[in-house]
Amino acid sequence: QKCLSLIKKTKFLNAYITVSEEVALKQAEESEKRYKEGHSLGDLDGIPIAVKDNFSTSGIETTCASNMLKGYVPPYNATVVQKLLDQGALLMGKTNLDEFAMGSGSTDGIFGPVKNPWSYSKQYRGKKQQKTHGEDEDSNWLITGGSSGGSAAAVSAFTCFAALGSDTGGSTRNPAAHCGVVGLKPSYGLVSRHGLIPLVNSMDVPGILTRCVDDAAIVLGVLAGHDPKDSTTVQDPVKPFMLPSLTDVSKLCVGIPKEYLTPELSSEVQSLWSKAADLFESEGAKVIEVSLPHTSYSIVCYHVLCTSEVASNMARFDGLEYGHRCDVDVSTEAMYAATRREGFNDVVRGRILSGNFFLLKENYENYFVKAQKVRRLIANDFVNVFKSGVDVLLTPTTLSEAVPYLEFIKEDNRTRSAQDDIFTQAVNMAGLPAVSIPMALSSQGLPVGLQFIGRAFCDQQLLTVAKWFE
Ligand code: GLN
Repeated sequence: QKCLSLIKKTKFLNAYITVSEEVALKQAEESEKRYKEGHSLGDLDGIPIAVKDNFSTSGIETTCASNMLKGYVPPYNATVVQKLLDQGALLMGKTNLDEFAMGSGSTDGIFGPVKNPWSYSKQYRGKKQQKTHGEDEDSNWLITGGSSGGSAAAVSAFTCFAALGSDTGGSTRNPAAHCGVVGLKPSYGLVSRHGLIPLVNSMDVPGILTRCVDDAAIVLGVLAGHDPKDSTTVQDPVKPFMLPSLTDVSKLCVGIPKEYLTPELSSEVQSLWSKAADLFESEGAKVIEVSLPHTSYSIVCYHVLCTSEVASNMARFDGLEYGHRCDVDVSTEAMYAATRREGFNDVVRGRILSGNFFLLKENYENYFVKAQKVRRLIANDFVNVFKSGVDVLLTPTTLSEAVPYLEFIKEDNRTRSAQDDIFTQAVNMAGLPAVSIPMALSSQGLPVGLQFIGRAFCDQQLLTVAKWFE
């Protein structure tokens, strides 16, 4: 009830596309009954959880914030959603995102941008000496980051205890950093993608947003595991559940990738990053500078691979099987074209066009195949660093704290926002686990996140270190 009332109170944040109040109340009632009657309880029994609107939810509209899927009600639950429900979680609703999870601001969906709850915080307002007045007429609000901005805002505004996001190039970690919550991207293959509407199949993973690291570990424990419906899930994963309390970090080796010290990094984030490294050192950990030499190629490489996979993924939206269909009866081709013109925004269409260009017979070798080779080099950089004895890498999550919406949407900012993913995208190309945790407030009174990156399938070790730092 408390969470539902907070959802209503914070409606102006635009964090939710659909609020599944009736479903949540019914689940709460059943949970209470289980408790009262002394039945065994699930790991998440009675816990309010929100789900990004690109996960299929049986009987609940799933839009990907796109006209293409508006009104689409899936007949089944994504595996991760089913696992949450099987453990007694309450489904509070579906959260807002960039259309088809393409973006890093949560500004590009058909339901409008998500507002960062911190825009209205005492810490930020106090510093700016501005009054919080009639939320909606106030244009000076901050973005949440994205594309899982609705999920991050939902957790940050206390409307739920955890939320599912998705992470293809940083979409869980980036908004987590901007909204002051924990954002976990599990190892690729640890958590099923079945029912997560794909962006880039070879990089997508369901992400977890929570208020603290322990909660992320509990949710991961529920979600992790082989799924016969997703052939990329591993048969025998490590199942993190309760994290041990690490008291001694003296055997830990923390790597600081020197290429992540980019000119675009804000000096404040940089100094918090180095403070964090100092803290590890002062507690006895070994902190060393390491090199990930192919970092500078990662944004371009990601772009070629992402758009190529998008081009083929989006082919399914033809107006025949799902969602929107335009009423043009001149020819089938004309119907396809009109449907896709109406259904997709310019970001999605732009990526479909780029991807098809990279996949043309004459370009395939030069772009797509080359990008795959570069991806291997990027992934090997991490392998080499971990082989040299490093346990975790410590990096910033984003270049700066959250920026005002009006600044973010400026035309010349579009390229900068691609640059924003510089610390997160390489991790997806390498399939590694990474977590962003809130580190401190900036001088503006806004949260700054730090990222830990771990060895593949060492999610538990990663979270244990993050918990120590938290
Ligand atoms: N910002 C990146 C993109 O737009 C990553 C998105 C994501 O992780 N879903 O592709």
